[in-house]
Amino acid sequence: MIEDRKNQKHKKSMEKQKAKVDANIEAASTERGVAILLTGNGKGKSSSAFGMVMRALGYGHKVCVIQFIKGQQLSGEELYLRDQRSDVYFYQMGTGFTWDTQDRTADIEAAQKTWAEAVPLLGDASYDLVVLDELTYMLAYKYLDESEVLNVISNRPKNQSVVVTGRGGGSGLQGIMDTVSEVKEIKHAFKAGIKARKGVDY
Ligand code: ATP
Ligand code: MG
Repeated sequence: MIEDRKNQKHKKSMEKQKAKVDANIEAASTERGVAILLTGNGKGKSSSAFGMVMRALGYGHKVCVIQFIKGQQLSGEELYLRDQRSDVYFYQMGTGFTWDTQDRTADIEAAQKTWAEAVPLLGDASYDLVVLDELTYMLAYKYLDESEVLNVISNRPKNQSVVVTGRGGGSGLQGIMDTVSEVKEIKHAFKAGIKARKGVDY
């Protein structure tokens, strides 16, 4: 008897929820690419971006990935894309640069060279998805001109989606993005002394 009542209550609440979701789906009528910012101090930003890469590839969409990362940290994503997906344009800032020197001038030069790789892609309507991994740091350090970056992202082709990742995505960037998610650290294995794991962390 009690179970029956519980089931009925559950059904009612699910129906209510469904009506709400259906109404929202109905109300969303704009068809265009979206700009997504994944920020915050928890784990899950870049891996979420690569999840979208996989989704897009599943539909045969054209994808490119630009990584604004220092050094030459190899990642599973890079290995996979370079090995198996020669159709995905992949560019990493670190390659060929000596970051260990902490040379600010060289850092700025590398950031600008990498941004120069991204600009034509952000103007190319044949790309359905552009990932700008760890771009936020380039803005935070002022290695790139923020207003130019915001302009280029805002004026990309209508059907192109862009995903930006990195901690500390500022208010300027947040303002032009359609979707902003903050990944919050509750805990991280690293803080318990567990080593970064191949295939999970990189
Ligand atoms: P992921 O690539 O795993 O989705 P991320 O992009 O959210 O992580 P980054 O700041 O780019 O996070 O850091 C990448 C690396 O640092 C990964 O190995 C990740 O596990 C690790 N990391 C992420 N968040 C934390 C944290 N809060 N403390 C320690 N290490 C972290
Ligand atoms: Mg990341």
